[in-house]
Amino acid sequence: MTTEQRDAAGPGTALPEDHLRSGSSVDDLRGAVLAKLAYAVGKTQPDASQRDWFLATALAVRDRIVQGWQNSYRATNAGGTKRVYYMSLEFLIGRLMFDALTNLGLTDAMREALSGLGVDLDTLREVEPDAALGNGGLGRLAACFMESMATLAVPAYGYGIRYENGLFRQVVKDGWQQEYPENWLSFGNPWEFARPEIAYDIGFGGHVETLPTEAGPPRYEWFPSETVEAVAYDTPVVGWRGQHVNTLRLWSARAGDPLRLDAFNQGDHVGAMADRVRAEAISKVLYPSDATPAGQELRLRQEYFFAAASLQDLVRRHLKKYPTLHNLPDKAAIQLNDTHPAIAVVELMRILVDLQTMPWAEAWEITQATFGYTNHTLLPEALETWPVPLMERLLPRHMQIIYLVNALHLDKLRAAGQSDVEVLRSVSIIAEGWGQQRVKMGTLAFIGSHRINGVSALHTDLMRQTVFRDLNALYPDRINNKTNGITFRRWLIEANPALTAILVDVLGPAVLDDPSRLEGLAAHAGDPALQARIRAAKRDNKLALGRIIAARTGVQVDPDALFDIQIKRIHEYKRQHLNLLETVALYNAIRAEPWRDWAPRVKIFAGKAAASYHTAKLIIKLANDVARTINDDPTVRGRLKVVFLPNYNVSLAERIIPAADLSEQISTAGMEASGTGNMKLALNGALTIGTLDGANVEIKERVGDDNIFIFGLTAEQVAERHRTGLSARDTIAASPRLAEVLEAVSSGVFSPDDTGRYKDFVQALSDNDHFLVTADFDAYYAAQRQVDALWRDEAAWWRCSIMNTARVGWFSSDRTIGEYARDIWNVPVAAAE
Ligand SMILES: *Cc1c(COP(=O)(O)O)cnc(C)c1O
Repeated sequence: MTTEQRDAAGPGTALPEDHLRSGSSVDDLRGAVLAKLAYAVGKTQPDASQRDWFLATALAVRDRIVQGWQNSYRATNAGGTKRVYYMSLEFLIGRLMFDALTNLGLTDAMREALSGLGVDLDTLREVEPDAALGNGGLGRLAACFMESMATLAVPAYGYGIRYENGLFRQVVKDGWQQEYPENWLSFGNPWEFARPEIAYDIGFGGHVETLPTEAGPPRYEWFPSETVEAVAYDTPVVGWRGQHVNTLRLWSARAGDPLRLDAFNQGDHVGAMADRVRAEAISKVLYPSDATPAGQELRLRQEYFFAAASLQDLVRRHLKKYPTLHNLPDKAAIQLNDTHPAIAVVELMRILVDLQTMPWAEAWEITQATFGYTNHTLLPEALETWPVPLMERLLPRHMQIIYLVNALHLDKLRAAGQSDVEVLRSVSIIAEGWGQQRVKMGTLAFIGSHRINGVSALHTDLMRQTVFRDLNALYPDRINNKTNGITFRRWLIEANPALTAILVDVLGPAVLDDPSRLEGLAAHAGDPALQARIRAAKRDNKLALGRIIAARTGVQVDPDALFDIQIKRIHEYKRQHLNLLETVALYNAIRAEPWRDWAPRVKIFAGKAAASYHTAKLIIKLANDVARTINDDPTVRGRLKVVFLPNYNVSLAERIIPAADLSEQISTAGMEASGTGNMKLALNGALTIGTLDGANVEIKERVGDDNIFIFGLTAEQVAERHRTGLSARDTIAASPRLAEVLEAVSSGVFSPDDTGRYKDFVQALSDNDHFLVTADFDAYYAAQRQVDALWRDEAAWWRCSIMNTARVGWFSSDRTIGEYARDIWNVPVAAAE
């Protein structure tokens, strides 16, 4: 049932008083929640479940967003202000209730209002489904950006897909990952507004007709063979202090003709339903792939579906106000979050040339001036390409346009004197090879955009040197860097109220509006009283996490042990296995010298593996095998515990991060584009142990070399190893500690039930250690012992922790969005208060 239907289903006579819709006193809020419980949820107090109370509360909060939403919309429209359209196949938004309450400043009042009804706000918080419309960092970035754009009053729409099933729910059974569907919408979604009147036809397949014109080139018209309807669902996104509200517009697929009645009436019920199922499959599931392309036709259908719907939507909005699309770049900036929406470049050309009969050259100028493209990965296996025959069959007119864009692009280069076949091949949108032609979506996005950005300084440099080297030489002004950021509202104020209270106390409430004020903390980093407060807050957070760990895994952890945290997607380049091998080495060392004063540690892992990524799933099994063996070994006596927390998502991250002492950011240098988990953890006072990769480099520059543990090969050294060969035999032979660990894992010490389980896995590390786990092992082990040493010096440790919080204000996504606004979108941002 949609919210509208639920509203309509209420008795409908005694509509609540107006003040109940907008008032913010405790009494107003309590009255509003009770009105929602009665009229929208249809329950009375005695029968209300926690979920009923959550819905009533969320709907009452939502009412308080709507006025600001309409004001923001009207102001943007009246002023003719330029809008930003952020197109992303993923929005990893998580729960929304505390975002809304925090930004409206209503958290305390609502807590009190509910407590008067015998309801606990923090219990309701856990009832809200976690909206996981994304895989990891890329999708979470889109969500942080939406919040920051609202905060900075940048008029913006986020465009994406309303997947019925978000990222799978991870269950760990006997140590193995199992995937279960995550039907987050099954009990309704109180934050969204269905907009059945905002629906567009999206075509697929069919053929193209050439229509001669009186003068000039012929016109082309696409006649699709299949039509799917895209229906809008809007979620308001409220910014800090509730000043500005933007829209996240997600598209749901619906069969054009709900049921083909002719077929249905002729008795072909199954046939009629089949078309419908095929159409609606587009918004059924998020592809659970991370850093690998999902080479499925349905995925390409998803990409075109949401790109085309979003373009129709923004073009309609533009043409309602202006007579032509000539001024589109003055009124709209479209940002492509990775290449997934890159087909939008071609769709805009089709709209301009075929539908608006604009000359090609002019259309191309408008297109380039409107689009910006963010690159998120350099891993060759993750660069998206589509087979030409598939593109031709699904989007025949678009394929024609791509060929022409490419031919004109290459002509221009040849005319400018470029004759090197290798260069021309590398900058062509069409790749030969693999036995078939393919469309390189990254090249298409690059050529169709006026700005292309990387997501950390190192990643942007590597973009210039590797994937886009030749394109960068041709268009040297286009690539620029926009180091990622995170929203401090969610990752500090909401996730860590205890630390937030201390910061406000020490630095004043203005720190909540201006994260650069965190710097003021540095002057007090050595203050024993402040250290004691920070430490006590962390201990409470660790106790709370300990309760979650006990409830979900049965493992008891000591809040006074060092909490060593690696939480992120499971991937070989992120090297959870490096951490596990070090864990085994530490285990061996503790057993060998049990009398020594070992610093107690809890190693906490969480993360999902792509369902088809066998090695990543084996790494999860290894984490669980190592955990069981170590946690059951009486010799270790609690000095080392290992935990794998299942079903990592935004909500779990919000509980783990405030409890972290050490942040593991140990990817193979050159492979993590930026990382944002690293920023969340440093902000919450965790010290980083990491490689010089992604934004770790910039975190190090800001917190200072003394407040971070850096180890391992540099990106340059990694590239050199990849050139000269990756056999790890000599490395292993030179490190008795590593050899012993590998031997233990390989021979089945951690898998007595199946002693061969890790044989091939260890063998592969010795033969072809692409991710350089063995090469970095000794340096990592040594860095971990430095961590132990610092942990024993309490004053020094907490000084470092405070310095981390003090010096990472720059990683606020408000700063990142300010840079996009200035350098890419050319839109103003609201000044900080
Ligand atoms: C921040 C975040 C990520 C990204 O983490 P990295 O360590 O940067 O890979 C992934 N998933 C969730 C749920 C997050 O909150």
